[in-house]
Parts: sequence; structure tokens; C-alpha cells
Amino acid sequence: MSRKAQAVKLLDEQGRRVDGRLPDEMRPLKIEVGKLKNADGSAYVELGNNKVIAAVYGPREVVPRHEALPDRALLRCRYSMLPFSVAERKSPQPTRREIEISKVVREALAPAIFLEEYPRTAIDVYIHVIEADGGTRTASIIAAATALADAGVAMRDLVAAVAIGKIGEVLVVDINGLEDQYGDGDMPIAMMPQLGEVTLLQADGVFKPEEIKRALEMASKHIRYIHSVQVRALKETYAKVEEGEVVG
Ligand code: UDP
Repeated sequence: MSRKAQAVKLLDEQGRRVDGRLPDEMRPLKIEVGKLKNADGSAYVELGNNKVIAAVYGPREVVPRHEALPDRALLRCRYSMLPFSVAERKSPQPTRREIEISKVVREALAPAIFLEEYPRTAIDVYIHVIEADGGTRTASIIAAATALADAGVAMRDLVAAVAIGKIGEVLVVDINGLEDQYGDGDMPIAMMPQLGEVTLLQADGVFKPEEIKRALEMASKHIRYIHSVQVRALKETYAKVEEGEVVG
């Protein structure tokens, strides 16, 4: 374990983490669907202390028109962290990090969408991080995929994501802000849960081949759970629609 990780005691003598979790334990996950009335689809996600909202508009006319693609929809994603979402105020200007996360979120979602069903249209996904505590890109992917399904966009599968971290030699699931800052590795993984296909794999830190294999196994187990929460949230919303209650 690095000296930094030891100094903040990321793992105690019982093998528990700073927030009391075991290595293979996720933070509590809550998903609500259809909160935004003006969006075609939306989802609000709480993952531990992270609070993220995703809104989907489209498929709709592409503006500017020259960006339209003749054979498929143009998928645009914008991830932004609100200035008060972190302890030290963040400038509202898009940072390099936000531009990078917007790109990886789009690439994580695109394989799941039947983009070819919607030629010459745009599907816009806006993601706002209201509070951040490590793992906002994975919470954003969970929110965005659920919002796309809420918008009725044709999809092969949902997409769910979780980050596997490393504290010394120990792999831990769903790292929080402190673990991200002082830990020894961060590997965000997104998958189409039913198809079992990985759509995003990033790694910060050094992972041995054996650790990558274990990280993927660990992630895929938790991604199956996250998928069940996404499906439950979507079903609950549409059960209310069937009962005549107006939602979203
Ligand atoms: N963070 C911050 N200020 C920033 C950017 C990030 O405090 O300007 C924190 C925030 O809690 C975030 C964490 O650092 O969740 C880890 O950021 P990273 O770039 O690893 O992305 P994430 O883990 O959120 O996907």
C-alpha cells in the first residue's frame, strides 16, 4: 500500500474501508426515472454521496444541420460538474476532464443504441453532477443509459458501470473520493449487462494481468446488480403510467 494510502488508513485492521464498506461492497444506489418534464427521458442517480441527473432530448432535428449523419443518429453527450458539486468550487467553464468524460460516456453508450434506426437525427444527452464523491463517470453512465431507455430510444441493452480500485494489493469496488485520491488504482468499467460486452475500460495506476481479470469479474457481478436497479426504476415508472398517474 502506498504511504499516502496508509496515512489516510484506506483499509483498517479488519479489512474495512474508510466508509466502513468491505472491499466487495458497493455504496447504496438509488435511481429515479422521469423527473424532468421537458426532457424526452431523464434519470436521477444517487450513488453514495454522488448525485447526478441525466436528461435525454431526441431523436430530434440536428442543429447545425451539416452535422447530421445520413445513415445514423448523431449521439452527443455533455457531462458537467456544477460549481458547488465539489469541496473546492469548480469553474463553470468546461474543463479538459469534463470534455474527456463527455467523450468516454458517449463511447460507453453508443454500442447499446440502434443509432441506425434514426438517420439524420440527434440524440442529446446532458449530464449534470450535483454532488461528487468519486465515481461520477460511472454514475453518469448509469443515469444516461436509464434516461435513454426512459426516452424510448431503441437499445440492444442498457449500460451500467462501476469503478474498481486498488488499495495496496486489495481490489475494491466502487471507489469513493478519498479512495480515488489516495488509492493505488482506478479502473472504471462499463458493460452492456445482458450481452456481457464491455463498452468502457479505463485504468489509472498499475494493474497486473491477473488483477485486470479479477477486476472484470468483480465489475460484472456488480453491474448485474446495477442493471436490476435500473430495470426496477424503469418498471416502477411505467407501472405508475399504467395506473393513470402522469409521470415525467
Ligand atoms: N473532483 C473534484 N474536483 C474536480 C474534479 C474532481 O473534487 O474538479 C473529485 C470528485 O469528487 C470526483 C473525484 O475527484 O468524483 C474523482 O474524479 P475522477 O476524475 O477520477 O472522475 P470520477 O471518479 O468522478 O469518475
